[in-house]
Amino acid sequence: MYIVGLDLGGTNIGVGLLKNNKIVKFLKLPTHANQGKGVVINQIIKAIELIISGIDKKNISGIGLGVPGPCDYKKGVLINPPNLPFRNVNLKNIIKKRFKKKVIMENDAGCAALAEKRFGVGKNKKNFILLTLGTGIGGGLIINNELYHGLGNGGELGHISIKSDGPKSKCGNDGCLEVLASGTAIVKRAKKILGKELKARELAQLARKGNKKARRVLEESGKYLGIGLANFVNIFNPELIILSGGVWDSGDILLNFAKKEMKKRALFNTEVVWSKLKEPGVLGAASLIKNAS
Ligand SMILES: [Zn+2]
Repeated sequence: MYIVGLDLGGTNIGVGLLKNNKIVKFLKLPTHANQGKGVVINQIIKAIELIISGIDKKNISGIGLGVPGPCDYKKGVLINPPNLPFRNVNLKNIIKKRFKKKVIMENDAGCAALAEKRFGVGKNKKNFILLTLGTGIGGGLIINNELYHGLGNGGELGHISIKSDGPKSKCGNDGCLEVLASGTAIVKRAKKILGKELKARELAQLARKGNKKARRVLEESGKYLGIGLANFVNIFNPELIILSGGVWDSGDILLNFAKKEMKKRALFNTEVVWSKLKEPGVLGAASLIKNAS
């Protein structure tokens, strides 16, 4: 049997077809978040249609959806994600009606954390934290081997306060971690310091060649990330912190600045690593179906 795993991001939709816990087919489509709700929903449907094309529908056991919070994950309602034009949209019902398959929804970073727990560096860890650094910053908390939800939306680690007079954030909490250290924040900082919108990977390449301004962008971004990490360490004292998401390809420069700042501020030393999984969000979303069957 096949399972579909979909990771809905603010910039891209990742979708995979899985068999025996392995991604056998994968593709990425732009989310087109700035084009409104209808366009985004069509992109999601298109992504699923493309990934299951040529497969007999009888052989598909379900569709797992990883979506940004806040959500009512059980009902399948996206309440008001900062980086998507969705306000109280029941995506689960839309996908269920369209494909007539079992659909389970979970937080996108939560999915990535579940994938790390089953297949990645979190495998033998009882308590760890996962952060996705992309368009926004998502958080997944594994506490006592389980994904933590609190009343439903616990673990929105990207929206903790870092700088009280920080830049305006879509979530309403100005100066939150996301608005200071996400992939989007890094691109904006590059524009300010280098005059060009450069991604973390491009900045890392320039910094390695000795470009001081590119290095400064990564240093500032890493510093804010490190402040966030120190807060998480002091609250949770986790065994490990795993970073994943689009900023992954910036490599060690950003990570080292973040670690340095974290060490200055945290009460305990904690290992921080990049994820080694390919598409943990998609893997984790698919694993929702596996767990339910
Ligand atoms: Zn925020």
